[in-house]
Amino acid sequence: MAVDNALSSPLGPPACEKDAKALQFLEEMTRNADSVQEDVLAKILAQNADVEYLKRFNLDGATDRETFKSKIPMIRYEDLQPEIQRIANGDRSSILSAHPISEFLTSSGTSAGERKLMPTIKQELDRRQLLYSLLMPVMNLYVPGLDKGKGLYFLFVKSETRTPGGLLARPVLTSYYRSDHFKTRPYDPYNVYTSPNEAILCADSFQSMYTQMLCGLLEREQVLRVGAVFASGLLRAIRFLQLHWRELSDDIESGMLNKKITDPTVKDCTLKILKPNPELAEFVRMECGKENWEGIITRIWPNTKYLDVIVTGAMAQYIPTLDYYSGCLPKACTMYASSECYFGLNLNPMCKPSEVCYTIMPNMAYFEFLPHEPAGISQDSTPKLVDLVDVELGKEYELVITTYAGLYRYRVGDILRVTGFHNSAPQFHFVRRKNVLLSIDSDKTDESELQKAVENASQLLREFNTSVVEYTSYADTKTIPGHYVIYWELLVKDSANSPGDEVLNQCCLAMEESLNSVYRQGRVADNSIGPLEIRVVKNGTFEELMDYAISRGASINQYKVPRCVNFTPIMELLDSRVVSKHFSPAVPHWTPERRR
Ligand code: AMP
Repeated sequence: MAVDNALSSPLGPPACEKDAKALQFLEEMTRNADSVQEDVLAKILAQNADVEYLKRFNLDGATDRETFKSKIPMIRYEDLQPEIQRIANGDRSSILSAHPISEFLTSSGTSAGERKLMPTIKQELDRRQLLYSLLMPVMNLYVPGLDKGKGLYFLFVKSETRTPGGLLARPVLTSYYRSDHFKTRPYDPYNVYTSPNEAILCADSFQSMYTQMLCGLLEREQVLRVGAVFASGLLRAIRFLQLHWRELSDDIESGMLNKKITDPTVKDCTLKILKPNPELAEFVRMECGKENWEGIITRIWPNTKYLDVIVTGAMAQYIPTLDYYSGCLPKACTMYASSECYFGLNLNPMCKPSEVCYTIMPNMAYFEFLPHEPAGISQDSTPKLVDLVDVELGKEYELVITTYAGLYRYRVGDILRVTGFHNSAPQFHFVRRKNVLLSIDSDKTDESELQKAVENASQLLREFNTSVVEYTSYADTKTIPGHYVIYWELLVKDSANSPGDEVLNQCCLAMEESLNSVYRQGRVADNSIGPLEIRVVKNGTFEELMDYAISRGASINQYKVPRCVNFTPIMELLDSRVVSKHFSPAVPHWTPERRR
């Protein structure tokens, strides 16, 4: 379709009029980033002038940056917990936001072992939708013809609960998929999925995955892009295919649906698509039956132009495996978002993973940046927060946000590095999330959680007069799903009564029981994390580790055992000293209900 010249974009020629409008909006927002930010803050503060939280700091209705910055403190989740708890308990007064809190979004970041509860308001859905609506117009600049086929996206909902006061608490994507914005989205030829809504919305993860995979196989020729939110999710789908291709092929051959699919709405919608197709069944059997699964994605879905998955941050560990299964297809990281707020998008989504940078959209919230000093350099006691357009190229910052829903100067915990600008809007490389030691899927385990887990598990060794003298950890993503590996060096005081295999297996489970609820949900409900493994190493191994670090220039005085390792020579050293391996024999306890 020819596009009116007046609507052309500096980013490139838009694919259609709708895209042209979206790109124009993007240009406007990024050109006027500072005034948009000023406006956003003024709107948030005007809208919430009378809320309890802002009144507490005597903002007195001011809506300008200067007053805001001088009166409102920068906070962490824990500072806001009393207010969040009151809202969760049913207090409907305007505590954080003048608009009613419509629900809580449960973050994969935890506080005291439970998901953080992020308040949200109805109108935030429109803002999220707006960011989503910019993704395809940008992608269409780089990949033509995406309106000629479909996307095979593995999308899932997770369980929901209600707070004592009756508000829903669920992950942001579950909230979005269950919204009318998603369910009754207008037809858009650039955004057609093979997965029926009913399959995406099915809370049973097996039935959901099975039918999404089945529909993806049935329409394999039409699939132009394959994706999931995170890289780990797409690999889980590949693993699922490895385990279930025989049943899937049987269904395709007979046109009858597996008896395990019992959800009536999922059954109905799948049966509308499923027709006997012995030829396709034979093809799937032939490809999946081969020993070698290299390039399986492009073998089964030969028209795939790219993988749509986040491979930045903790997900970078999956790049080699994705490359193996996809024959190195491009991996598009399209957006950067969280439960607190959706932040921005990648304007060059077909770039290499190492070059991905996200342009923060100035209309989403009011953004400030806390200069991040590398570890060891003392932080200024009153660090000055920098505005969006004032960040400096090459510098690292922690993201601080003020949202329409009632977070004011809230530290997200992400460290970003400025890599460039699009117009006056900065672009950021996602460096890392603070305090994350181990992550397989959306779980994030920090050093103190790991420490506590080791302490709790080592209680089981007491009766054997044995203790853990040193430990470190490693996120093993060579298996699908990946799993935590904890290296233990033990001090066994009575070798005649040393802990046996069974006890050490139980130690694995005890560690899992101590880890946070996102980890345990990954183990129990999502099957996204495999059983935790303890590898017992020979006595003296950690001393060797220290010698190795010192030989590479570490200071003896300052040497600390790394609580997580991923440097190959160190892994090799540790693995060459392993005397026994133990796995969790069962899944830990988890229910959707919060423990507190
Ligand atoms: P949640 O609130 O559970 O949705 O988690 C949000 C967090 O996930 C962010 O604060 C980031 O740490 C991480 N995250 C989200 N999008 C990306 C991305 N594109 N690249 C790297 N990390 C991301």
